[in-house]
Amino acid sequence: MDFFKRIKEFKSMIAEVESSIYGGKQDYLEIYERNIQLEKEIKQRTAELNIANKRILTLQHILDMMNSAKPLQSVLETIVNSIQGELGYKHCNILQKFKNEKEEYLMVIAQSDDESIKRVSRMITIPIQTRKLVYNPNSIYAKSLQENRILQTLDIGGTLKSVAPDVSDKIIDEIVLGSPSKSIITVPLYSRKKHFGWFNVFSSRKDITESEINFLNMFAQQIEMAITIADLFEAVKAQAVTDGLTGLYNRRYFEEYLKKETIRAIRQQQPFSIIGLDLDFLKQINDKYGHAYGDIAIKTVASVLQRNARSIDIAARMGGEEFNLILPGVESSGALIAAERIRKAIEQEELETIGHITASIGVATFLEHSDNIEEVIELTDQAMYKSKRNGRNCVTLAKPVTETLWQETAINTFVDILSKHNIPIQQDLCDELCEKLKNSERTKDVLYSVADILTQTYNPLHSSGLMKTKVQIAVSLAKRFDLPKHEIDNLRIAMLLYDIGNIMLPVELLQKTAPLTEDERNHIKTHPIIAAREILKPISYIQDIIPIVEHHHENWDGTGYPEQKSKDEIPMTSQIILIVDAYFALTEQRTYRQKLSPREALKIIQDEAGKKWNNTLVQEFVTLIEHDID
Ligand code: GH3
Ligand code: MG
Repeated sequence: MDFFKRIKEFKSMIAEVESSIYGGKQDYLEIYERNIQLEKEIKQRTAELNIANKRILTLQHILDMMNSAKPLQSVLETIVNSIQGELGYKHCNILQKFKNEKEEYLMVIAQSDDESIKRVSRMITIPIQTRKLVYNPNSIYAKSLQENRILQTLDIGGTLKSVAPDVSDKIIDEIVLGSPSKSIITVPLYSRKKHFGWFNVFSSRKDITESEINFLNMFAQQIEMAITIADLFEAVKAQAVTDGLTGLYNRRYFEEYLKKETIRAIRQQQPFSIIGLDLDFLKQINDKYGHAYGDIAIKTVASVLQRNARSIDIAARMGGEEFNLILPGVESSGALIAAERIRKAIEQEELETIGHITASIGVATFLEHSDNIEEVIELTDQAMYKSKRNGRNCVTLAKPVTETLWQETAINTFVDILSKHNIPIQQDLCDELCEKLKNSERTKDVLYSVADILTQTYNPLHSSGLMKTKVQIAVSLAKRFDLPKHEIDNLRIAMLLYDIGNIMLPVELLQKTAPLTEDERNHIKTHPIIAAREILKPISYIQDIIPIVEHHHENWDGTGYPEQKSKDEIPMTSQIILIVDAYFALTEQRTYRQKLSPREALKIIQDEAGKKWNNTLVQEFVTLIEHDID
């Protein structure tokens, strides 16, 4: 009896061993088959890459890529997306190392758009691509660079922690636990012998085969090729004088030529004219027939311009659908005739599918309308907008300016403010800025830079150069509303001064990181307006500016401050300042929040249309900014 029992036990043991051998065999078979499959896939991809690498080297391909003029980032994004999903790669990205005065840091400059990254983005609210990541000298990235080879790590959590120490351990653990990736493989990238960054794949496997290493190396070469080509392209583009689409001169050449022509005109006391032209309704053509047809419309205008220009005239595409023609030695009467001839010729063109197109034209003449070239350009622009408002497809001649230039007024204002010494700015800085203003050639640029520096005294996050952009946008917006020239000039000065009252706020309040109390918030709201009035009141020649500054916090629906004015009681110029200021505040970094993207900022502004701002103003503003985002 015992004997049989033991035999039975023995048999079941054998069965167990058998089944575990069988299971093991099954596992082994699976791994074996998976590896065969993987090897096959790698071979195939390697062959494809080989062909692609050869092809990319051919001159034609390089030229194609240059002409496509795609920014490097979008080329790299295409590349990382093309490999994501292959060979069990769940996510791919390219990291680059940057350096500022303080530190070295990493940024993701391209990443594949996949489920893994979407999941991570949801978990760490701030988009990865806008984060500065930490460059740790002990990280896998530093090591792969030192050893100059591909490295793999199974410690995904540790690697993430090393680049983003601010993300909590809990979130990192959650990311790792729910992730299908088992390892990170990093490949150092070089461009023209210089280290460029790292190509990283998040693999669903813990192992890496020899052929996979070859494959990744070859893939990295393709990335390096794209980087090198993009670099070369940038260099070539920077030297180019013509525009790729139309063959006309580009903006860079136009500006250079204009400088020379201005000098010549002054020396010989002989005028020259500028014809500014903007295609009508291009957006509709793009929307209705596609971008390629929009391009045909642009090319048609270019060829009409070229045919109608004399050999000494300079026809340039300034960007988008905007063209300028310089007519040396031609007075406004002659330029008007030429402009009208061009307008008719454009209207008469018969385009395939699109039919007829038209353009709006403005004309201004140097030494006739103004002897300041920047003014002439602006007058041309204003005249062109006038043509748009008059129903498009027409020519408008600029009106001459005789008043004092706005920048003279603005420079004098700043000198007055700084030399009165009743603002809490260090004496040295005041003197330095005054010198700068007095001794410069009294150009706009010196104004912008002084305004930037003053802004930085109460807002250290304000970036240099921003003032210029802000003023330009405010002015473009004002032109779209047909504001008279003197109001636009006042707006420019007000743009430089509207926040000056902030200088008077106590440092403790400006630098406070803890949330503000109700009282403090009110102080920050109202005090600068009072301060601005005090600062500007003694300056007799800018009394028209004060109301604009004072009302730049009034809302369209009467809920603003200080006087709860509403609708047309608020100066249009103040409304323009309010919207431009809001947009830049949203897109600038703040101590308490990350900056928003242009689209996010526009969305917020659109949500307040009719409340903070007049609806039409919001619409025009959005069109203006979207034009740049495109
Ligand atoms: P308007 O008559 O007021 O000038 O209307 P518009 O549609 O021509 O002007 P808007 O400024 O609203 O839009 C210009 C559009 O031109 C937007 C932009 O996408 C398009 N655009 C700019 N550059 C190019 C280009 O090189 N090719 C094509 N196809 N479209 C372009
Ligand atoms: Mg247009």
